[in-house]
Amino acid sequence: MCTSVIRVEHISKTFSTLGPDGRRQSLHAVDDVSFSVSEGETLGLVGESGCGKTTLGRTVLRLTEPDSGRIFFRGEEITALRDMRPVRRNMQIVFQNPAGSLDPRMNIGDIISEGLEIHRIGANKAERREMVCRLMQQVGLPPEMIRRYPRELSGGQQQRVGIARALAVDPAFIVCDEAVSSLDLSYQGQIINLLEKLRDERGLSYLFISHDVTVVRHISDKIAVMYLGRFVEVGAADEVVQKPAHPYTRALLAAVPIPDPVTARARTHRPIPVEALSASPPRQGCRFADRCPDCMQVCLERVPELREVAPGHLCACHLYR
Ligand code: SF4
Repeated sequence: MCTSVIRVEHISKTFSTLGPDGRRQSLHAVDDVSFSVSEGETLGLVGESGCGKTTLGRTVLRLTEPDSGRIFFRGEEITALRDMRPVRRNMQIVFQNPAGSLDPRMNIGDIISEGLEIHRIGANKAERREMVCRLMQQVGLPPEMIRRYPRELSGGQQQRVGIARALAVDPAFIVCDEAVSSLDLSYQGQIINLLEKLRDERGLSYLFISHDVTVVRHISDKIAVMYLGRFVEVGAADEVVQKPAHPYTRALLAAVPIPDPVTARARTHRPIPVEALSASPPRQGCRFADRCPDCMQVCLERVPELREVAPGHLCACHLYR
């Protein structure tokens, strides 16, 4: 029996950009990525800015069209579906910048009820208003705020509005794209707790995108680590964090600040200097080779494929041949 809410197979997306020399070049934002998310599961997607996380999230929802590959929602292929409206209702997104993603001219009630109207949910305006008030309560916003405007709310409250808007159409799957990154630490914790509570209550599935491995670890069942458009490591969240296999994952974890200096000195992995991610076309070999302390000759010649290094734990690295 298929329990995957979302399954993607060999998705790729390339953009044409202007290089430093003024010439057009191809940016392989997503390159041959496959994964699935089960009912009630959270897949955390982690990597530096510019590694293709957001493009992948948008491609899964078909807000960006893939160049190749296949996308399935509950077993049905939607890659070339002409009318996405019935499926769109089931697949929502919460954006990074709550202020920028909420129309400043609309009040909170109108923002949350917009999806209800588009999808003709609720018999009339009064019923939709009741639904909006219930949603506001569910995400921890007092219904009295229904006539307020986004500018009158804090960042945390604005993000709760974004979540309520996504929940309004009763989706099965939500892409949370850096959904807590622009918030203060105290709001981050509140929003993550809220997302976890809603997942448990509603059986939601998330693709949770973040550059912050500690945030991803907290909320995710599985983690996929992305580097320059490709998955380099995938596995259960605890396993990836406690036994990172790929040198890039180790570098990401080593960059996480540890408050206790003794514990910090005992850390076995060392951070790797962060450089601007290259937009140049992929060459032969491992894309991480320039930054990898373990680089070998074979790494310059052959692209490493994802393979199992422990049950359910995949890594794309020639160290595991
Ligand atoms: Fe480093 Fe080679 Fe592994 Fe790439 S394949 S991460 S260069 S050891």
